[in-house]
Order: sequence, then structure tokens, then C-alpha cells
Amino acid sequence: MKLIDLHNLSQKRLKALHQSGVHSPLDLLYLFPRRYIDKSNIQPIRNLHRFSEPVTILGKVKSKNVAGYKNKRRLEVIIQDNTGVCKAVFFKGWRYFINLFEEDSWVSLYGTAKKYGKYMSMAHPEVEQIESLDEMKIPDTLIPIYPSNKHFSKAYISNKIITGWIQDILKSVQFDDFLPNDILSENQFPTREKAFHVIHQPKTRQEANRALERFKFEEFFLFELSMMKIKRQRIERAPGIRLKPGELTKKFFNEILPFELTNGQRNSLSDIKKDLLSGNQMNRLIQGDVGAGKTVVAIGSILMAIDNGYQTAFMAPTEILAEQHYYTIKEYLEPLGINFRLLTGSQSTSLRNDVLSDIAGGNCEIAVGTHAIFQEKVQFNNLGLVVIDEQHRFGVKQRNEILQKGDHPHLLVMSATPIPRSLAMTIYSDLDISVIKDLPAGRKHAKTAVRSDAEREAVYSFVNKQVETGDQVYVIFPLIEESEAMDLKDATMGYEKLKKRFPSFSIDLLHGQMDSGEKESKMRKFAEGETQILVSTTVIEVGVDVPNATIMMIEHAERFGLSQLHQLRGRIGRGEKQSYCILLPDQKLTESAKFRLKKMVETTDGFEIAEADLKLRGPGDFLGTKQSGLPEFKYADIVEDRMLLESAKNSARDIIQTDPDLRSSNHQKLRKVFKPYYKERAEFFGIG
Ligand code: ADP
Ligand code: MG
Repeated sequence: MKLIDLHNLSQKRLKALHQSGVHSPLDLLYLFPRRYIDKSNIQPIRNLHRFSEPVTILGKVKSKNVAGYKNKRRLEVIIQDNTGVCKAVFFKGWRYFINLFEEDSWVSLYGTAKKYGKYMSMAHPEVEQIESLDEMKIPDTLIPIYPSNKHFSKAYISNKIITGWIQDILKSVQFDDFLPNDILSENQFPTREKAFHVIHQPKTRQEANRALERFKFEEFFLFELSMMKIKRQRIERAPGIRLKPGELTKKFFNEILPFELTNGQRNSLSDIKKDLLSGNQMNRLIQGDVGAGKTVVAIGSILMAIDNGYQTAFMAPTEILAEQHYYTIKEYLEPLGINFRLLTGSQSTSLRNDVLSDIAGGNCEIAVGTHAIFQEKVQFNNLGLVVIDEQHRFGVKQRNEILQKGDHPHLLVMSATPIPRSLAMTIYSDLDISVIKDLPAGRKHAKTAVRSDAEREAVYSFVNKQVETGDQVYVIFPLIEESEAMDLKDATMGYEKLKKRFPSFSIDLLHGQMDSGEKESKMRKFAEGETQILVSTTVIEVGVDVPNATIMMIEHAERFGLSQLHQLRGRIGRGEKQSYCILLPDQKLTESAKFRLKKMVETTDGFEIAEADLKLRGPGDFLGTKQSGLPEFKYADIVEDRMLLESAKNSARDIIQTDPDLRSSNHQKLRKVFKPYYKERAEFFGIG
């Protein structure tokens, strides 16, 4: 059946459906109700006075009227059922709401009613346009309320109309179930046919939920199945280069590294060693909170590549960070006679050409750089390992591009976004994961406090005292693109003020608009202790390491996200001294800002912070969904539906282990559905 076969489908409506992503009757069936009105809970208007909590009423629009004057206008609508009349009142957005109420049409209202003058009134109730009770084709069920949008409204596609279409389709379509029977019975899911019927006309909410879970499971299951298959394909197709630790690796750990490795670092290195020796391509994620010491783990892996004559590409998301890695490598590896070059976007052409020819010729064993390394012109002689720091800043696509520059090089990605491990394992199921949980010995957690503007002077005298004993201070100002000019002014003014307040200290200003040479020299001055107070916008957010810096003051702290605040705090507490994070928010705070600041004071545990941030922002924003290669699930939510995700993953694993090509007879329907889905994902992950 085609969409056009639905009765009464005008061109206008057809277009509105297309614009909303509905191209077939099946798409319409997948338009699930966003909520249900329970008929048994509908109250007659006559009884409204009995309720102090919100209730649902159903009635006909008798009249509507805009009252008041100037900017105090309000919309008043009189609603009637066969027991009485009441009023719906809208003070804000009445120009929008006025169109929802057509005289003589039926609506449902959900809200709290109060008596004002003659009428029981609901202020700003939730409104749905619906069929009248008598006409409603659905017998004793919950009334589905479908999502709407501006295309639908323009084409007069109301809830009532969608309901009718869907009922017609349900009667005339036959359904195939691609979920294998054992999965259905294990999870006690309804068949696909049943699930569609139930979700559009449930008798109970439980029944509707069960059907919805089935559809969520479908999404997770196809996703997990594809990830498992991708992982398997990688292993089957790509014989990994075997890398054995040799002289350089040994020498580094025995003679050069100035500290003992933590258990987490040691375990990660041993995981990596196994991967590199296995004969398969490594795909490993190192997860560790800021300051956990991931860089050393990267360096250890790089040495194993060099010991076997292979080059490494070591990538960081910002120039400052790339430069910092470059200097760390210089410090540790120059004594071993290793050659390395820095490649960034802001280098002069002649310098860059020199670097490029070094990389292509094989003279350079480590190319450290930013996104510039992805470029086509960059060619390696024999790339054996790719290391990506702060991997959430890069997309899967970029990850693949760089892997193309070698013959199945090993991949090590590092992340300081401590996603709860179980979640990470599920969403990055194409990666193996090592976690560094412990911080290097002797680290003290930063003490964190929120201080108001009135307490600023007290904070400054504390800063004064600390700097006099030799400590260094970061003062951070927010900078976001939308208000860049204002923000820069803010930072500059803050810098001027501090210079006046601390005339004898050396204070410097750093921001993203400076060219990279200037940024680098300022950063270096700070790292070498020449600058005592560094005022900066968030360019220093990621990875920068100055162990002598012990105070982090964050201005307008309410404007930063939770993970960002945690990252910033991670810039201090890197040595053995006690460190302090001082949050200076503006006075008026939203609930969410209050929560973020409170959380920062309460805990320094990156995993706990991440969990809270994930809840605040939702997975899409938190993980950068598109980049991470995670599809946007239409119904399922990887946080809320974690249990379903876990069980989908287990089912997918079973199938890939026993029937990876879906050849068995009970997997034939699944195979048909999976094929196009897999193709798209495999392409995305560079497995053609
Ligand atoms: P991150 O995991 O945030 O990238 P870094 O690799 O930058 O952390 O390490 C943070 C700091 O801790 C660096 O100064 C590094 O030299 C130091 N460090 C790393 N590992 C250890 C260790 N095992 N013992 C002592 N200091 C360490
Ligand atoms: Mg780092």
C-alpha cells in the first residue's frame, strides 16, 4: 500500500507527511502516540470543583475571546460538555493557542482548575484536538495523542485524522516479525503485529509500555547486531601487524620514566601489549579521568610501534594540547634518539612541507598534531599505530580517514569523558576498553567551593597568600561563539582588574583568538613558572598539564556545563600540593546551574560527574551522538532504557556467535531487515 492510497490524501497533506518523514503507511504506523488520555480518568466538567490536582476534561469549544488590553492580553475559551461549562485561559502565547480552538470542535484539556468568578478555569492547560467521544472509533481504550508539528497543523492533519488513518492501516496491513521467536519468548515481547495494534489502541498503559519496549528493543538489537558484526569483520579482514616490545620500550620504562606506574596504567599497558601481539588489529579505548596519566600509556604504545620499525600518528583536538604532547615526547623520547615532528594547521607552508616530507620519507617516527594530520596530503611511510587523544572531539569518520593512511594500523583512543563503564561498553561496542580508575599516588583531590561576589576580596587575599608561597593560578572566563565579543571583553576586563589588584605578580591573558605562536609562548611561560596568574578563556580546557598550578578560579561558573567544569578542575591537583577550585557564579542562578555547582562541590569523582551530566543533558548532547557513531534512536533512550540495551546486546552477541551470517532458517526475516541497516553502518565505520 502506498501513502496515496489512504483516503482523502490531498497533495497538501501528502507533502506535510513527507516533510515529517512519513513516506509510507508503515512510517505512519511508526508514528507512536506521545501520550494517551485515559478515558476512565476523564472528569465531567460539573465535577471540576472537587479536584485540586490536574485532571483531564473533554469538551466542545463554545466560544473564544481575547480579553484585556495592550501587553496584558489573554485568551479565554469556553468549553462545554454535557454536564457544564468551564474556561481555559492563556496569558502567554495566546496568538498560538487561539488557533488550536475551532468553534464546535472537540478538545481535551489537562490542567488544574480553580474557580474565578462564575467559571471553573484552567490556566495554560495542555490542549489536544480530538474526535468527539461519540465519533471515536476506538472502543474502551486509551485515547492516543500523536505528535504534531507545523507541517501537520498547516495541512490540518489533526490528532483525529491521524487516528483514523492509522486505524485503517492496521486493518489492512499484514505484518512479518523479524525478531526471532526465541528472543520474543525470552523477553515476553508481543509479536510485531500485536505490538502495533496495542501501541495505537491499548487497553492498559502496561500493555502499551510492553509494546513500546519491544520497539525500543528492535532499535537496540539492530544496532548491537551491526556493531558486533563490524567488530567481527574487522578481526576477520584485517590481519593486525604484530608488534613486540623491544629495547626502546624497556629502556623508557626502566631508565627514563621518573615515576612508578599506577595499577590502572600498568593494566592498560598490558591490555595494549596483548592486542599488539595478537595478530589482530587493536581497537582500544583508554578511559581515565583527567590527571589519571593517559599520556604515558600512549607513549608506551608508541614505543612498541617504533621498536618494530613502525610510525605513529598521535592526534589531539587542539593546538595547545598537540604542542604539549610534542614537548612531553621531546622530554621523554629525545634521549632515546627518536625522531618526531609537530603538524598543525597554523604552520608556515615551508615548515609544513618539511614536516610532510619527513613523515612520508619515514624519517619521522612520530607525527604529533591536530586535525591537520587527517588531510590528504599527509602520507606516511609505514603507519603502524594511530593514537587519538580526547577522542570524543573527533568523529568516527575522521578516525577511519586516518586509519586509511596505513595498512590496518592499530588504533588507540583515549578519553577523559568518564562514561559509566557499562554504558561505554555498549555504545562503543566496536572498541575494547581499558579503564584507569586510580590517580597517581600522592594526589590530593582539589577542594572546591562556591563564592559570591561579596566574598571576592577574601578569595583574592587567599590567592595572594598562595602565590606568595610559589603557587600558580588559573582564572577562567567563559567564551562562547554567540557572545564572543562580549566574552572577550569580559576576560580582558577581568585581566585588567587583576593586574591592578596584584601589581607585583606577573599576570597574563590567553584566549582563542590569539595566533598559535602567541598562545604557545604564553602557555609555556606559565608552564615554566614565569607567569603566576594566567587569565584565560576555555582554550586551556583540555589536557593541559602544569603541576605547579594549584588554584582554579572560574568566573561566571554558572555558564559552564558540568563535564566542562570538571575538566577545568582537572587542570589543577596534578602535583602533590593541595589545590583549590573556586567557583564564582553570577547571582541569579537557574535550578540546573545550582545543581551543577552543588555537584562540583560534592564530588571529585569523574564517573559520578559524568553520570549526573548525562542525566542533565541527555545522551545526544553529552556524547555528541552523531560523532560518536551512535545512531539517533527514535524511541529508545540509552540511559533510561539501559536494561533493554543490555539485553539487546546479549541477544545480538548470541546470534553473531552462532550464526554470524544469519543463514539459519529462523533468521531469514531478520536477515532481510538487517542487510540494508548493516550496510549503512558498516560504510560509516569504514568497513565496506
Ligand atoms: P591525563 O590522563 O589527564 O591525560 P596526563 O597524562 O596529562 O593525564 O598526566 C597528568 C600528570 O600526571 C602529568 O604531569 C604526568 O607526568 C603525571 N603522571 C602520570 N602518571 C603518573 C604516575 N604514575 N605517577 C606520578 N605522576 C604521574
Ligand atoms: Mg590528557
